[in-house]
Amino acid sequence: MTKLDLFFDPTKCFIGGRWVAPIGHELLPVENPSTGETIGEIARGQAADIDAAVAAAREALAGAWGKTPAFERGRILTRMSQAVLARVDDLARIEAMDVGKPLKQARADAVALARYLEFYGGACDKIMGETIPYLDGYTVYTLREPHGVTGHIIPWNYPMQIIGRSVTAALAMGNAAVLKPAEEACLTAIAFAKIAEEAGLPAGALNVVPGLGEEAGAALTAHPGVNHISFTGSLAVGELIQRAAAKNVIPVTLELGGKSPQLVFEDADLDRALPFLVNAGIQNAGQTCSASSRILVQRSIHDQVLERMAERYRALRVGPAIDDLDVGPLVSGRQQEIVGGFLGDLGGGEIAARGEVVSGAPGGGHYLAPALVSGVRPDDRLAQDEIFGPVQVVIPFDDEAEAVAIANGTEFGLVAGVWSRDGGRTMRVAKAIRTGQVFLNNYGAGGGVELPFGGVGKSGHGREKGFEALYGFSVLKTVAAWHG
Ligand code: ADP
Repeated sequence: MTKLDLFFDPTKCFIGGRWVAPIGHELLPVENPSTGETIGEIARGQAADIDAAVAAAREALAGAWGKTPAFERGRILTRMSQAVLARVDDLARIEAMDVGKPLKQARADAVALARYLEFYGGACDKIMGETIPYLDGYTVYTLREPHGVTGHIIPWNYPMQIIGRSVTAALAMGNAAVLKPAEEACLTAIAFAKIAEEAGLPAGALNVVPGLGEEAGAALTAHPGVNHISFTGSLAVGELIQRAAAKNVIPVTLELGGKSPQLVFEDADLDRALPFLVNAGIQNAGQTCSASSRILVQRSIHDQVLERMAERYRALRVGPAIDDLDVGPLVSGRQQEIVGGFLGDLGGGEIAARGEVVSGAPGGGHYLAPALVSGVRPDDRLAQDEIFGPVQVVIPFDDEAEAVAIANGTEFGLVAGVWSRDGGRTMRVAKAIRTGQVFLNNYGAGGGVELPFGGVGKSGHGREKGFEALYGFSVLKTVAAWHG
């Protein structure tokens, strides 16, 4: 077993400010996707651990955390931000080993987590209510209050970034959080708890219970003591979460992925567009909710764009995370099978180009050469389903109306990119597209912690990131005082 060299104990849950073994004393293996080896063990939290975590969160709200002034919450989050930055190399190495992300990408996630803590730390004491003009003899004002206990169920693809956009925003508003990370990727979530402890976050404000989705996750979702659930993950599980939340009549924020298009018009600056077109599909081996998996290209430049993308694909090198190449392995054998299944059934499509798995890549790793596919029709499975791997399809269109129709022609609506030098067109298309974010002549804007993010349709609802997240993690109370 390769030694992980951690600064925390991954076999424990973090509950009420203490590091405790899961009540069932069971552990789950940690696999390194680059080699297939088991490199450690994590706690397998279950319903009883979730009960304890929710009780600890409730206690924190009634105690020190609930009484912590907003500016002091800000100072704590700011200290956590600095602590994350001081540990960036450790966090990047751990994430690379745990989920197979090339080191540079893992490092970017750690830096993003620090940036979220900085942003939300700075925002804590700047959330204000309003006074509302009303009848003679009244003063009316609003208070923005925390929900109470917030549950956070996150996936394995960007643990640190999703902790950043979800948990830190909830803490900034004064909620007490219970975090259930994905079984494939718990290490940086546990590291986050250690950092919170060291930065002086009051006991119970953050609780982390690693474990399986159908055990700890389902228990958190159904728990009557939870006041809000934030979930990022698959559509299938998102539906279960919303159903469970309905039973307790609590609000949910769901971010369920997408089939995000980039629309490339014939007047686009192709030199600028090209790197964005490809990177948005292969970053994190395509295991990104906002990955751009559909490239829609005006017919007059279709062949040229396809060939220029193909050239880039042929140069992509795939290998162990620690070697920091363009693309790492997929997170698991299961994910490799799912993506391989899509490539085994191309419908009318054909492979235009593939990247290359380097010759020394360990046999047990879950490697898959990125694939660029042409000739796919807009309603083919490959152009409709979220693949969650390094696969992009290139589809031609004739005019603006057709481009928008294809872009809007899936059940998802998370992100879109528009490439054109015609300012009027980009703004018209931005309005016509049904997604939560649209990027004009760029894509992703480098993550952008300030930019509200979320979906429409089956991509989910609610917004995380930016100030908007703080509204989502709070409830508004209206106080109407009659004083005559
Ligand atoms: P993926 O298929 O990409 O692994 P999932 O939606 O299954 O994505 O997982 C995202 C998160 O949801 C993980 O933390 C996982 O443990 C959790 N999860 C899975 N099943 C359930 C469930 N039935 N109830 C609550 N959480 C779940």
